[in-house]
Amino acid sequence: NKQVIFRNFVSGFPKESDMYVTTRTIKLTAPEGSNAVLVKNLYLSIDPFLIVLMRPPSNNLSQLGTFIPGSPLSGYGMAKVLESGHPNFKEGDLVWGITRWEEYSLLTETDTLFKIQHADVPLSYYTGILGMPGMTAYVGFYEICSPKKGEYVFVSAASGAVGQLVGQFAKLLGCYVVGSAGSQEKVELLKSKFGFDKAFNYKEEHDLDAALKRYFPEGIDIYFDNVGGKTLDTVLLNMRDKGRIAVCGMISQYNLDEPEGLKNSMCILIKRIRMEGFHINYHYHLYPKFLDTVLPYIREGKIVYVEDIDEGLESGPAALVGLFHGRNVGKKVVVVARE
Ligand code: NDP
Repeated sequence: NKQVIFRNFVSGFPKESDMYVTTRTIKLTAPEGSNAVLVKNLYLSIDPFLIVLMRPPSNNLSQLGTFIPGSPLSGYGMAKVLESGHPNFKEGDLVWGITRWEEYSLLTETDTLFKIQHADVPLSYYTGILGMPGMTAYVGFYEICSPKKGEYVFVSAASGAVGQLVGQFAKLLGCYVVGSAGSQEKVELLKSKFGFDKAFNYKEEHDLDAALKRYFPEGIDIYFDNVGGKTLDTVLLNMRDKGRIAVCGMISQYNLDEPEGLKNSMCILIKRIRMEGFHINYHYHLYPKFLDTVLPYIREGKIVYVEDIDEGLESGPAALVGLFHGRNVGKKVVVVARE
């Protein structure tokens, strides 16, 4: 069983050498009478939150848990059931949820394992648009941002797994949407593929405040925050009264020893802004409603999704490290096996 092993706790930016690939012979049958499910992993979802699980247990984010040095990484993926002692799953089922970075996994925690009912779409979509990132975009935008037609929406890390969907949801509702991303290629994608009204490369806008004032002369109603830090601080200056901020992620802060503070937090009070963090783990009861909304959009071509796919379990470490340098263009996926 080929595996990607977590070497040891990480400080600062993750490196490929914080993980290594090995092959171990392990017993892969579920113990008699257990609820365990044996799966063959097909696609792995490469997600920014994994870095948080690589921090030492003393870290103040460790309530999310940590990886165990010497053990395979775990995370979201899409898999095929080979054997099951669990009443909800049977041999041949396709599933998505928490699995491990290895060819075959014996899963005993099945609370976050969802049976795939619709296989007429690319199965890799269950790591992205139809999986955790898709749910994050859906819950964050519709539930947290309380959006209304015609509102002014700003999305950061806009071309990524979550951001590209938030922008498209906002367009479908009739909002004016601007996205920021870290390269010209991504900016073009936002405008030409995802239908954002405007997009800019934040690495080339040295005065973000001036840029936001240019793109939002009347201010921002909704900010979908994927990055935190200075971007969030500058957005606060440009929010409209009673604006909403969905605090989805803070990727600009995950690798800093000293996270940046907010200088403009008074704006929250003065402008009566509602700023709300959310964690997708608490919202999976909405998954059926989400599928009813998003599947028709995909089938009718009203929503598109861009994936950035690497082949082979060996590419996992570089794929993960690359997220923190903006190397992915769209949702990062690693193919372990195609069937
Ligand atoms: P992406 O697919 O967008 O990949 C990460 C992207 O972040 C990179 O491609 C890069 O794009 C951008 N980035 C990296 N470093 C920085 C930086 N220092 N400053 C600004 N941008 C940076 O990731 P996801 O769509 O999967 O995740 C987006 C955010 O949502 C993350 O913060 C993630 O942790 C969060 N999240 C939160 C969840 C929740 O439950 N609240 C669930 C899932 C995700 P670019 O080239 O544009 O800089």
